[in-house]
Amino acid sequence: MSIASETTALLERLGVSRRDFEGGDMAVRSPVTGEKIGAVRTASPAEAKAAIDRADAAFREWRSVPAPKRGEFVRLLGEELRQHKDDLGRLVTIEVGKIASEGLGEVQEMIDICDFAVGLSRQLYGLTIATERPGHRMMETWHPLGVVGVISAFNFPVAVWSWNAALALVCGDAVAWKPSEKTPLTALACAAIFDSAAKRAGFVPDGLLATLIGGRDVGEALVDHPKVPLVSATGSTRMGRDVGPRLAKRFARAILELGGNNAGIVTPSADLDMALRAIAFGAIGTAGQRCTTLRRLFVHDSVYDRLLPRLRKAYESVSVGSPLTTKALVGPLIDRGAFDGMGRALDAAKALGGKLTGGSRVGIEGPDAFYVRPALVEMPKQEGPVLEETFAPILYVMRYSDLDDAIVLHNAVGAGLSSSIFTTDLRESEKFLSAEGSDCGIANVNIGTSGAEIGGAFGGEKETGGGRESGSDAWKAYMRRATNTVNYSSALPLAQGVTFDIE
Ligand code: NAD
Repeated sequence: MSIASETTALLERLGVSRRDFEGGDMAVRSPVTGEKIGAVRTASPAEAKAAIDRADAAFREWRSVPAPKRGEFVRLLGEELRQHKDDLGRLVTIEVGKIASEGLGEVQEMIDICDFAVGLSRQLYGLTIATERPGHRMMETWHPLGVVGVISAFNFPVAVWSWNAALALVCGDAVAWKPSEKTPLTALACAAIFDSAAKRAGFVPDGLLATLIGGRDVGEALVDHPKVPLVSATGSTRMGRDVGPRLAKRFARAILELGGNNAGIVTPSADLDMALRAIAFGAIGTAGQRCTTLRRLFVHDSVYDRLLPRLRKAYESVSVGSPLTTKALVGPLIDRGAFDGMGRALDAAKALGGKLTGGSRVGIEGPDAFYVRPALVEMPKQEGPVLEETFAPILYVMRYSDLDDAIVLHNAVGAGLSSSIFTTDLRESEKFLSAEGSDCGIANVNIGTSGAEIGGAFGGEKETGGGRESGSDAWKAYMRRATNTVNYSSALPLAQGVTFDIE
């Protein structure tokens, strides 16, 4: 069966009608072979605006549904995802090129966040606060916010939507989603799954999810819409630089989940077997196309010559191939643009004295598919392309001799998403996690930079945008907080002892 026919069969099983993915104006290609697998219809900015208006109308009903009942809907959404896990995971593999276990893992993450959100729907707690005035009570209440805009990147085409949507829905919000133009088919599948859960629930207002297929112009229509009080935007730092100020201009909230330039430190006491596996998965997995991919590695002088030969060997031997027909660990890059970007970064690194292992194109699956051997570059120092995120499998390795110096270098890049240290020395690990240590939103010990669980708040600092989504108390960004003071006495004492007596 061709990839296109398999895609059609999968989409139909997932409940997407043919007219939604055939005959449209935007071609969809699988990076596995570069072949066309669909043609979707894009929304015009005016259509996007109308769909957001409908979501706003749905929000006005949804906000009054009790939160645990909203959670019941998210429970059903999680059930539908469980039922469709294999098909949706396979579609992720076809549309993005992730290997099978990562495609399925992405759907598992969606199921996990639904479970988390169901529990949360009974735990949207506000504080009661001691008041300085007698006969008064002060408390916080959390209210639904409105239509939450979600802009997602190609590399987590469905999980990022669910991280935002599951929380937004239990918080009483509607969702308007602009998926990546590179991954509209998995988005249509999610919308169909959402519809079937809504049908089962029977109490979900029409239009609660608006799925806006299109490019940057549609994303801009979402960002500029006055009825969208919050936009959670995942993608490049370039995108965030545009979206952030536009939202600020109209005082809308932003959750910005932008690029990473993640690093690891291997100290003299590290368990090198463990470090090797974690580094390999972090740097090579998903063909280097995760926001949390390991891109820089600082290795202590005393272990460099033991670790590097093993790492080079791993790079030379790792299997690269079609994620549909082989069990290879490395699938394709998303497109020619990604391949060209990788070539430019490697040329720049070599010009600065970088010693390269791997990095060449693998000529399989035709001229429109871009498979590469992951690249390991031993750099004399941190400069040039090492300071930037190149969204491809390139790991820059540098030596260090003093941990304090390594931490300074670790933090000396624009992005601040994920980080890790490999050590069995308590002092080193605690220093790395302390205020003087890693400046990232995620700091790990003895695990790699990628593969976060949904239970923690996810996001990063500096040019990664500062947003947090998924677990912990990230839900608070999806609600508005009201401070309520109730006077149940018969006097009217003013705060701070102010007197203001009128006749
Ligand atoms: P991208 O920035 O090209 O596109 C992301 C999304 O933003 C797409 O839906 C795109 O249409 C939209 N967009 C682009 N410009 C816009 C604008 N001006 N206004 C509104 N919408 C706009 O990113 P990509 O290539 O799809 O994804 C890769 C990037 O995403 C990498 O930098 C990666 O690190 C980052 N990423 C970050 C996270 C995170 O959680 N921090 C997660 C995944 C990916």
